[in-house]
Amino acid sequence: MQVLYNSTRGGEKGLTSSQAILNGLAGDGGLYVPDSFPTLEVSLDELAGMSYQELAWEVMKLFLTDFTEEELRSCINHAYDSKFDVPEIAPLVHKDGAWFLELFHGRTIAFKDMALSILPYLMTTAARKNHITNKICILTATSGDTGKAAMAGFADVPGTEIIVFFPKDGVSPVQKKQMVTQKGKNTHVVAITGNFDDAQTGVKKMFGDRKLAEDAAAREIQFSSANSINIGRLVPQAAYYVYAYAQLLKQGVIRAGDPINITVPTGNFGNILAAYYAKQIGLPVKKLICASNENNVLTDFFTTGTYDKNRPFILTTSPSMDILVSSNLERLIYLISGEDAAKTSSLMASLREGGKYEITDSMKEGLADFYAGYATEKEVAGTIGRIHAECGYVIDPHTAVAATVYHRFREETGDDTPAVIASTASPYKFARAVLHSIDAEKYDAMTDMEQFDALHEVSGVKIPAAIEEIKTAPVRHKTVSSVEDMQKTVRDMLGID
Ligand SMILES: *Cc1c(COP(=O)(O)O)cnc(C)c1O
Repeated sequence: MQVLYNSTRGGEKGLTSSQAILNGLAGDGGLYVPDSFPTLEVSLDELAGMSYQELAWEVMKLFLTDFTEEELRSCINHAYDSKFDVPEIAPLVHKDGAWFLELFHGRTIAFKDMALSILPYLMTTAARKNHITNKICILTATSGDTGKAAMAGFADVPGTEIIVFFPKDGVSPVQKKQMVTQKGKNTHVVAITGNFDDAQTGVKKMFGDRKLAEDAAAREIQFSSANSINIGRLVPQAAYYVYAYAQLLKQGVIRAGDPINITVPTGNFGNILAAYYAKQIGLPVKKLICASNENNVLTDFFTTGTYDKNRPFILTTSPSMDILVSSNLERLIYLISGEDAAKTSSLMASLREGGKYEITDSMKEGLADFYAGYATEKEVAGTIGRIHAECGYVIDPHTAVAATVYHRFREETGDDTPAVIASTASPYKFARAVLHSIDAEKYDAMTDMEQFDALHEVSGVKIPAAIEEIKTAPVRHKTVSSVEDMQKTVRDMLGID
């Protein structure tokens, strides 16, 4: 079955998956969505015996229907190889009454590697298929993890250039060091004097700027996105939820057809939407638990039906979730409106103009698959400390947000369906916050370097290569820009006047 892609705002219809990946964002500012949901072509039992690569192919081929088998398998095999430090790629670990799906075994030790190690292959294959000879410039806003993972994927990939914008004071020390030391002639990093929402809005504006696109085209450059607004990010992410299910089957925890619950620490709503897409293609998922930090705009939305970003932006220990405008929610809005592009478009206009919108009662019914909650900073620290003390397992603050909300869900509902928790980052990436939660007195005074060794002792987990790398890597990127000057910075970097 051929799957084509439409904009959530109605301005573009019937693109192939490779065109949607190349464009990133639709010209009308909308997001590309599949025109229908395919269903898994193999039984759940068969999935249980598959390797990660084999299973990823079964999931991704359903959405990327204009890629040939050879093209897609080649992308998958190049992406999910020894760059990951475990052969399972995404191991499932049973601790504290839940199953942690460890998505941080890639090169930059956050879950963004799961999709961003394959996106460059999908993108260059898509360019070839569509006879694109322009250079593709990836513009990316990052709350800390996407930027590094995208650069690691695109560094020195012929025919590409990548520019990453991160909030200068809104990322962890490790995240910052990872980005500013990035190698590769085609990589550019810009610290902006604003928060993640400013960065994301600025990038989206550039995508919608005709003049910029024309000037770039005159230099044989076109823009695309590595953010989760790109459908090429979401599709690979749906695969690991199916993989988690397959592992539970294999371990005898469930039988084929039994439901599971999935908890996702959420920021831009990409990772949880991928889980929702997995449900749409036939994965038996009962509840999708949307976990937020103190920037709890999504918790309020799911409980009231009103999305209101007019509130303080809070810097937390889970910076990759410090977001008030969750872009991918637009894809869910579109689905629960009955694929009504006019309705979606008008709600997004209200969000742009007044920072707020309210969905209808019938749309609210479409949210029944979700449960939402949030964790305070104090609860996050408490959860990290408790799970370490009780289970000897160390989790990062993002994952701790999810674990906290999962336990609340379980207490409130009594629902003890086997639950997968998306574990989105290695604790090493947030060593300071993690050790502070475990024993502030003992660890707070240590330097970053001493903390890595301390975390090794506390967790028993080997220091990942990504951390060893930044210990000595020289700083290569020092550009700082105001939010207003983002486009000017891009023009300078690309030599567009
Ligand atoms: C990006 C990120 C998230 C949030 O994922 P979304 O897809 O933006 O909802 C959560 N945890 C970590 C560690 C991340 O890097």
